[in-house]
Amino acid sequence: DAAINRIAAGEVVERPASAVKELVENSIDAGARRIDITVAEGGKRLIRVEDDGCGISRSDLPLALSRHATSKIDGSDLLNIHTFGFRGEALPSLGAVGRLRITSRIAGEDAFEVDVAGGRMTSVRPAAGRPGTVVELRDLFYATPARLKFMRTERAELQAVSDVIKRLAMAEPYLRISLTDATETPRILFSVEPHSGPPLEALSRRLRAVLGRDFAENALAIDAEREGLHMTGFAALPTYSRGSAVQQFMFVNGRPVKDKMLIGALRGAYMDFLSRDRHPAAVLFIDCDPQLVDVNVHPAKSEVRFRDPAVARGLIVSGLRHALAGAGH
Ligand code: ADP
Ligand code: MG
Repeated sequence: DAAINRIAAGEVVERPASAVKELVENSIDAGARRIDITVAEGGKRLIRVEDDGCGISRSDLPLALSRHATSKIDGSDLLNIHTFGFRGEALPSLGAVGRLRITSRIAGEDAFEVDVAGGRMTSVRPAAGRPGTVVELRDLFYATPARLKFMRTERAELQAVSDVIKRLAMAEPYLRISLTDATETPRILFSVEPHSGPPLEALSRRLRAVLGRDFAENALAIDAEREGLHMTGFAALPTYSRGSAVQQFMFVNGRPVKDKMLIGALRGAYMDFLSRDRHPAAVLFIDCDPQLVDVNVHPAKSEVRFRDPAVARGLIVSGLRHALAGAGH
């Protein structure tokens, strides 16, 4: 039923930034080395994500747009999530809340495209294009005025899109990624080259590009382990400050998360060094066996539930305190 689909879709796609997140994650899943994102009017009028990933075959195109048809997991495997995509819901949801066009080409084959609007799909037709996939989403929420009303100003939505892209750029230092605003004359807002070297080195270069030299030069490398949880990344010295900007970026098994417990642990680690009104800056990656964490708590996938939250908290607090102590704090 179309109405139910639109409501369900609203859970996955709350605003342009959540659509961008789903699309870029799909591109990453597809093995892309390069992802170019274009938005107009903060993503309300247009979101376009172009990648050089594996592409979608002619016969898979309609399946990719059907609800749950493509979910890579069955119910028994809910805790074993290795790639970003696992629900098979993003594309069908986007096709329910906006005008969606997907053009895709597998290397060595022809390009094909398909349109979806209001949940209705056209037939697949031949198209032109380079190997990879282009997803265009126009007029987000045009059919759901209630949702449309909740969207914020173009500027606020663009800011949220930019945040999502910067987070993903931090998680994928080997990726080339750009954001262009095409509201008027196209303008590149963000662009990073792929970085090379061992993970922590590549990450350090990427953070310099995304967060600035000041962060990179005032950050301690973190590498700690506790009961199967591994934490790497960079944490800023207590003396580092970026004014009122909050620079706290956390990732669990490569997935950007915004989780109260993790942020609380970060704050706890700096408790003795920072006054309550200051936010410690850090970029932290926690990796573990997927069995030890449930990332399927919320449709927008930004909260996590560790099997043993105390271990995660302890890892962050002790790992960061150890690094700070090593630096003379
Ligand atoms: P999920 O990512 O949860 O599987 P989606 O609705 O996001 O579900 O995507 C459906 C399917 O479409 C994916 O499983 C994948 O096979 C295919 N797909 C989507 N985007 C891309 C892309 N950029 N490149 C290649 N395949 C894609
Ligand atoms: Mg997906």
